[in-house]
Formats: sequence, C-alpha cells, structure tokens
Amino acid sequence: MRILEEGLVIRTLGAAYDVQGPDGVVRCVLRGRLRRQTEGPQRPVIGDRVQFERVSPKEGAIIAILPRRTALVRREPLDPEKAHVIAANLDQIVAVFAAVPEPDLFQIDRYLAVAEASGLPALLVLNKIDLAEDLSALRERFAEYEELGYPVLYTSAVTGAGLEALRERVRGKISAFIGPSGVGKSSLLNALQPGLGLRVGSINPRTGMGRHTTTRSELIPFEGGYLADTPGLRDIGVWGIRPEDLAACFPEMRPYIGRCEFSDCLHLEEPGCAVRRAVARGEIRRRRYESYRRILIEQQAARAP
Ligand code: GDP
Ligand code: ZN
Repeated sequence: MRILEEGLVIRTLGAAYDVQGPDGVVRCVLRGRLRRQTEGPQRPVIGDRVQFERVSPKEGAIIAILPRRTALVRREPLDPEKAHVIAANLDQIVAVFAAVPEPDLFQIDRYLAVAEASGLPALLVLNKIDLAEDLSALRERFAEYEELGYPVLYTSAVTGAGLEALRERVRGKISAFIGPSGVGKSSLLNALQPGLGLRVGSINPRTGMGRHTTTRSELIPFEGGYLADTPGLRDIGVWGIRPEDLAACFPEMRPYIGRCEFSDCLHLEEPGCAVRRAVARGEIRRRRYESYRRILIEQQAARAP
C-alpha cells in the first residue's frame, strides 16, 4: 500500500531534493512523469509543496508537485519569452539598497518591477542609515514608494536601527532578499540571526563556500519562516520582463492599462495613450514613467542584432 506524505522542498541538489516532512528531512528523487522532464514547470523548486512516498526512513520519491501559490519566474534578459521558475510559494521580496551613497531610484524601480512581474509583494529596505546625514530628507524622498504601496524600512546593521521592524516583516514568511551587492544584505541577515552563513543574491558567503561551483538552492530557516538562497537570484537586477507585461509591473499604471487607443499600446509614442495622458495630468509620476520607458528601451536595445 502506498502512503503519500506531504512536505516542503527545502533544498535542490541536482537530481535529489531534500523535503521537509512532518518528522524531519527526507532525501527524495523524482518518480515517473516528473523524472522525465529536466526543465519546466514540472520540475520541483525550493518552496514547492510536494507529495512523496518513503522508501526508507530518510529516503523517498516525489510523486507530485502541489499547486503553487506563487512562482518567482526568471525571464532571460535577452529573451523574456524564455522563463524558468526559481522558487515557489514565496511570500515576499525584500529589496535592499544602501541609503548612502545616494541610491539610484531607477535601479530601485527595476528591482521592484521584477518582483511585480512574478506577482510578489515587495518591501524596500534602506540600509546604512547610520551614514545618512539627513534621515528626514531620506524619508521624504522615499514617501513616493510608500504611496505606491511598498513599505519602506530604514535600517542599520551597524547600530541595529530598524532591525526589529524588519524582523516583524519576515517572521513566519518565506522571503527572498535581493539587491545590489555591498548594500548590506548579509550583514542585516546575520545581525538578525547570527551564524547564518549565507549566500544571498550576488554576495559571497563569509565561509567562501562553493559560490561558483554549486547549483544548490535552499530555503534557510529564518525567524519562523525561510529565506530563499539560490544562485538563481544572483542576476535578478537584470532579469527580462515581457514588454507587454511591463506597464502592469508599475502599480500606478494599472488603472490606465486597456484604456489606450491601441490594445497593444506600449505607452511610448502611440497616439491616444491613456498612460501618457495620466503622466501629463500628473496622475503618474514622470520619474516613474521614465523608469518604465528606460527598462523597455534598454531591453529592446539589448535584443537588437
Ligand atoms: P551585501 O553584499 O549586500 O551582502 O553586503 P554586506 O553585508 O557584505 O556589506 C557590505 C559592506 O557594507 C560591509 O563592509 C559591511 O560591513 C557594510 N555594512 C553593511 N551594513 C551596514 C550598515 O548598516 N552601516 C554601515 N555603515 N555599513 C554597513
Ligand atoms: Zn498607452
């Protein structure tokens, strides 16, 4: 008689998967239909809830992937039609930037758009506020992101400022920390949970472990939830976004999509564009619209032969 159990994929190791079951971790291979596919949605990723069958106390076989609540989808920068699922069932993206030197808002818009493209809620962390001369000017500057619905946290891994607020935000959730290297992601995470020894995004773990050799992806237990740690997140800042999806990755543009004269309007030079009308009326910030244009145009330029 087959007894199917349910678990969470917490580690992928090439052909094997570590599944957190009700009574510990079970190392699983794939069975049947799942095994014949090397790529695509039928391949388990970290965060997947799966059904597995045990063959010994610590070994089993994954029979099926349960429906995904969310999927973090990496689209190739040069060919956004090509997509790979990097992690399943994430609750949120935590985008970290340094408050000093002056953060590049275009870069922030780009990271947020990538989170939106996977339909994931994002929050913004401005770290290194101990170096900021004028915190209230910083808060004013970032109020626009709060208005768009992105919570903004101000932190310092050095003084500990804002760490408890960050802890509250990640507690019990599956999060992916993203952001340029050097902004303090690993410092923040280690300050919250000493001894993590991570590889997040592009950063090199303090342990120096196999950064360039491993294909391992894992969920690391963190604050009653998990952190997604995968080499797949490394270049998230340049992931592709399908041109026709990009406007919807800017929450303030969503109400105008579908109101343009042309149904395939990309909101550039087309006549009768409701998005550009909204920019002209001040209903959409020009700065954000310019970020939209820049992402679109940079992507098109990168693809041109
Ligand atoms: P990561 O690449 O985003 O993981 O960044 P790291 O955590 O490796 O930090 C990069 C550098 O910034 C290190 O030299 C840290 O000591 C420093 N750093 C990290 N957080 C802070 C902070 O809140 N304030 C200051 N002043 N320096 C920080
Ligand atoms: Zn338009």
